[in-house]
Amino acid sequence: MSKSLHFDTLAVRAGAEMTEFGENSEALFLNSSFRFKNAAQAAARFGGSEPGNIYSRFTNPTVTMLQNKLAALEGAEQCVATSSGMAAILACVMGLCNSGDHVVASRSIFGTSVQLFGNILKRWGLQVTFVSLTDIAEWENAIQANTKLLFVETPSNPLTEVCDIAAMAKLAHSKGALLVVDNCFCTPAIQLPIKLGADIVIHSATKYIDGQGRCLGGAVLGSKTLMEPVYGFLRTAGVTMSAFNAWVFLKGLETLHIRMQAHADNALKLAAWLEQQAGVQRVYYPGLASHPQHQLAMRQQSSGAGIVSFEVKAKPGQTEQEAAWAVIDATKMISITANLGDVKSTITHPATTTHSRVTAEDRAIAGIRDNLVRIAVGLEHIDDLKADLAILTR
Ligand SMILES: *Cc1c(COP(=O)(O)O)cnc(C)c1O
Repeated sequence: MSKSLHFDTLAVRAGAEMTEFGENSEALFLNSSFRFKNAAQAAARFGGSEPGNIYSRFTNPTVTMLQNKLAALEGAEQCVATSSGMAAILACVMGLCNSGDHVVASRSIFGTSVQLFGNILKRWGLQVTFVSLTDIAEWENAIQANTKLLFVETPSNPLTEVCDIAAMAKLAHSKGALLVVDNCFCTPAIQLPIKLGADIVIHSATKYIDGQGRCLGGAVLGSKTLMEPVYGFLRTAGVTMSAFNAWVFLKGLETLHIRMQAHADNALKLAAWLEQQAGVQRVYYPGLASHPQHQLAMRQQSSGAGIVSFEVKAKPGQTEQEAAWAVIDATKMISITANLGDVKSTITHPATTTHSRVTAEDRAIAGIRDNLVRIAVGLEHIDDLKADLAILTR
């Protein structure tokens, strides 16, 4: 499909392939293996001299359509779809790093990503250094001769800190390393890391790419050269995306740009309202002028995206955690769940859920306080969201 098409058009049209039946909506190929015309064709497929599907752990037409659509949206040469967002990070590292290699990652990445790098991959000989997302000098100091990847999430979860992707890419390349950006919070509808110089984009498709909280999935995107070993790991290790999930994500991507705009509009309204409430100490949202990296965010993102976090003012006699929990427990509509990127707004207490396995000391360094509440703003009417948080008006 032509590269000159607009994002909205690519979201609807890119990647689609029609079978002989002429279906207008992408078909779901819910089959594990593919038949060959004869033994010679089977041999040619396995030997790689003839392209084509063999087995759905390797490739599947529905998954391929999803990969091609997402690659077109991110401006990447190639996409490798995975069984979850965590599988995407795993496949990226297993494909591109060897034992003894070094990764520098932001301290404020997704809690499970911290566990994967700092715990599991470390046991297999990967060296990892965690640094502050926004302090580029710390990144520069942490880079070693064996540093392969710089790994960032921007905006970060849950504090929505933003880092300068172009500056990070420049730093990575000057040291012979690759910049990996987890683009989960923004999606390509809001931020295009590869255009800004990043080498690899990671997605948890579970979030906004699905958009309606149904399926788990992930993706790694980058150049053909970089994606080859990532795909090599995936087809052998089996962290493959299911065809059914790919079909759901294909439908999700068609409306991604419209949903992300609506999420961001609602989030900005809610963040601005929260800033005015007596029960709120501080609001974290890149779209607010009060956000420390507001200018940068508005330069590299088309909006502030859909995640708003805020610190609750504790009442006399209340601990910070009690104050946060009181706000969460007072809601009647907003879903108390750690997921995000759903049309349904969700509310969570990072310190005791998504980041509970991070030590209290590391949470303090990352700035995740016990009075912090995160809302992934959905598509309900803004007045109903405000009403559900009326406890904050005091
Ligand atoms: C959820 C999430 C992941 C992990 O994705 P799963 O699909 O749950 O495995 C990774 N990064 C970020 C930023 C996330 O929010």
